[in-house]
Amino acid sequence: MRSEGIEGGNWVETWNGLITRSQGGFYEVTFNDRCRSILCRARGRFKKDQIVPLVGDRVHVQQTTEHEGVIEAIAPRTSELIRPLVANLTQAMLIFSMKQPTFNPVLLDRILIHMEEASIRSFIVLTKIDLCEDEGEITHWKELYESLGYPVFLSSIQLDKNNFIPIKERLQGELTAVAGQSGVGKSTLLNRLFPTLQLETSAISQKLQRGRHTTRHVQLYPVEESGWIADTPGFSSLDHPVMEPWMLSNYFIEMQPWNELCKFRQCLHDHEPDCAIKARVARGEISVERYERYLQFLQEIKDQYQRRY
Ligand code: ZN
Repeated sequence: MRSEGIEGGNWVETWNGLITRSQGGFYEVTFNDRCRSILCRARGRFKKDQIVPLVGDRVHVQQTTEHEGVIEAIAPRTSELIRPLVANLTQAMLIFSMKQPTFNPVLLDRILIHMEEASIRSFIVLTKIDLCEDEGEITHWKELYESLGYPVFLSSIQLDKNNFIPIKERLQGELTAVAGQSGVGKSTLLNRLFPTLQLETSAISQKLQRGRHTTRHVQLYPVEESGWIADTPGFSSLDHPVMEPWMLSNYFIEMQPWNELCKFRQCLHDHEPDCAIKARVARGEISVERYERYLQFLQEIKDQYQRRY
């Protein structure tokens, strides 16, 4: 990290930075010391090469004045989430309430498919567990998703702050997408985790985000010593990623290892004979409800695919 500042009256310096916000062709770049940001434009040649800098991009900037600079180079991306557009996400925190609104496994699986397709690993936080009278219900969902390999944390306003330490640890050093429908208690959870975080969580800004004409606005917020979170609004009405129908089972992580064992290549695991996936569903090794959601999504993807081609 270079932090020698401006030398000999020369305002031009190069630092490594991170794009933490973008709006209307301007990029807020935060330097690696995480204390200072400047407003940048992108070099003209990016446009020529059809490269659009994204929030989450690691960049080299040339500082032109105290508060302004130019993005000179973009580091290769490790991941790219399409909607919302964020680069280099390393994981996603998916927040779902048990009640008000009632836990929605279809939406959860929909988002998980998105994240798997973008090679972003996920963990889940179940909120408002105090409103759920049936403890068996909480256990069911926790065990189901943990058995697939997604860590599940429980949250409610009644838990004391020590309960949130494992979640905070999981956010260290990561660039985490935070996703949750309105009403699940996302702001409450984030404020609980990071009391000093200034998130735009007022009712008005949430309304604005839902507005028809507002573009999806993503911003990175620093957390603790070394992590960033991206608040990602607009995850409630998702289309599936564009894919051929046979690809879907690659993104159901419990099906993915057995895909190749079906009799037919590109088996859809629906009506085909000698299907390794259906055999595992019959034996109880793959959850029936996850398989049913697979079939539901398969139909949606077929419809989506036909409309397209
Ligand atoms: Zn099959």
